Amino acid sequence: MDCWARLGKEGTTPQEISIDVNCESLGTVTHEIAHAFGFVHEHKHFERDDYIIVQYENINSTQWFNFDIELESTVEDFGIGYDYGSVMHYRGNSFTKNKNLTILTVDPNYQDTIGQEVGPSFADVKKLNFAYCNSTCPNTLNCERGGYVDPNNCNRCKCPEGFGGQLCEKVAVNIKACGASNLTATRSTQVIKAAGAKTCYYLIKAPTNKRVFFNLIKKAFPNYWQCSGGYVEINYNGDFKLTGARYCFYEPTVSQSKHEELLVIYKGAEDSEFALSYRYDDPSTASRVNNIEKTGCAIPKKMEKN
Ligand SMILES: [Zn+2]
Repeated sequence: MDCWARLGKEGTTPQEISIDVNCESLGTVTHEIAHAFGFVHEHKHFERDDYIIVQYENINSTQWFNFDIELESTVEDFGIGYDYGSVMHYRGNSFTKNKNLTILTVDPNYQDTIGQEVGPSFADVKKLNFAYCNSTCPNTLNCERGGYVDPNNCNRCKCPEGFGGQLCEKVAVNIKACGASNLTATRSTQVIKAAGAKTCYYLIKAPTNKRVFFNLIKKAFPNYWQCSGGYVEINYNGDFKLTGARYCFYEPTVSQSKHEELLVIYKGAEDSEFALSYRYDDPSTASRVNNIEKTGCAIPKKMEKN
């Protein structure tokens, strides 16, 4: 049995999707259904060499075909780009023959983001809507932050997690225990923190042409694979349609936003906790955090990007 589906629509009769006893999670079921909708694995994306490094020495050569790159001429991604948080992305240890990692992310900040099995990402759903529902609405809207016209309500945009309003112009409203979600960075350092089982959103804004400088000063999450026990997600590159960098095990190696906005999402379980300090300053080229000094534990050598 196993978990599998054949790629794309095959004929005019219903086709089988196999959901075995270990495949019942929403993430796995939607992964298989997406195959039937025509989705290939994200790590086979034609631009994947800019995003991941496959460690072939840790994979049996009979399984190397699972990491073949799809041609750009056969795959349409609607300009959405490579999403580390796609439900179609394999885990860091998929097909390992020796327990070592088989997929390293080029930007080490995304090592905990790949391989999530919770459910489709915003970019997954956006791609699906572009493929099947793009002609539903006759109008266009100036959706912000990577949002797009909602095929179920042509007067509104579908927004990435953390954003809302008609055009994704608003940040999500927090429950009281999280504190305010709309934050303005100042020259002096401020701190946000949250603990326990809840979801909190924080959009931190710097003035025009300035950058948000941040430091993850506390991070406590159970070390489950791929952050399944909670994480703090920091979207520092400003492309909000793509999943941000999730941290539960590894430490950030960046400390400033690429543009004026920094989005922080806390997804906590009972024993989780995080705290992040922030301020604004002029853009700097030296953005690495010294992990050894800060936490006493270095990122493993093989994770280092030269
Ligand atoms: Zn698959």
